[in-house]
Amino acid sequence: MIIHILTLFPQVFEPILNTSILKRAQEKDLATFKLYNLRNWAADKHGTDDDRPYGGGPGMILKVEPIYQAIKDIKTKSKNDQISVFLLSPRGKTFNQSLAQKLVKLDQILLICGRYEGFDERIRNFTDGEISIGNYILTGGEIPAMVITDALVRLIPGVLKKETATKIESFSSGLSQLVKKPIKQKSSPPFSKIDYYLEYPQYTRPESFMGFTVPKVLLSGDHQKISQWQQKNILKK
Ligand code: SAM
Repeated sequence: MIIHILTLFPQVFEPILNTSILKRAQEKDLATFKLYNLRNWAADKHGTDDDRPYGGGPGMILKVEPIYQAIKDIKTKSKNDQISVFLLSPRGKTFNQSLAQKLVKLDQILLICGRYEGFDERIRNFTDGEISIGNYILTGGEIPAMVITDALVRLIPGVLKKETATKIESFSSGLSQLVKKPIKQKSSPPFSKIDYYLEYPQYTRPESFMGFTVPKVLLSGDHQKISQWQQKNILKK
């Protein structure tokens, strides 16, 4: 399996990817990790990949163009259009063992790590999906990318010395087959009843990219209308 990772901070991956089982998986040629610095696709010579959000608000948004261009180049370089591209995002499908088992069947995946206030909404038109590692906010997508990489690699046949290790362990289907009688669930804790809301879509320059435009209201300068639009576009998880 080839795991491509697009990030502004490739250096933070080195110790994790080059230690223990992940290191061995590479030595055995069962897994390859390719790190790409998003700054190499920056919009200018200063390495700018972010800009202020249309409609105002705190923080910076990752621009759509550099990420689009990086996806295109990574696919071309790997001579494989079949790379499945996932954004790491709190909005995504929550990562768990059964999603890990599905993803590990793919030959190549590209994980895109967000930073700052996240991605320009329009990048979602050029990706295959998005993955969250849980209902909380981290500073960037690097730790989620490491979590996913670790969980996938140990499922690749041949990576662990004893394959049964991944068959009978927590969250595995092997374990559920051993259960003869349904186990009574303990009552769920109160926090499981919380509603999770997701931030409204965000956009930054340019106004139009490959035919995808910024909602007009965000360009209007009318703060009341902008705030109404943002409230209307809050998503529920
Ligand atoms: N403004 C965004 C929001 O409210 O949803 C949060 C942006 S977060 C500070 C910056 C980046 O960290 C995100 O774009 C994403 O790539 C990553 N990130 C944060 N929490 C994550 C999670 N639970 N799962 C996956 N990625 C996450």
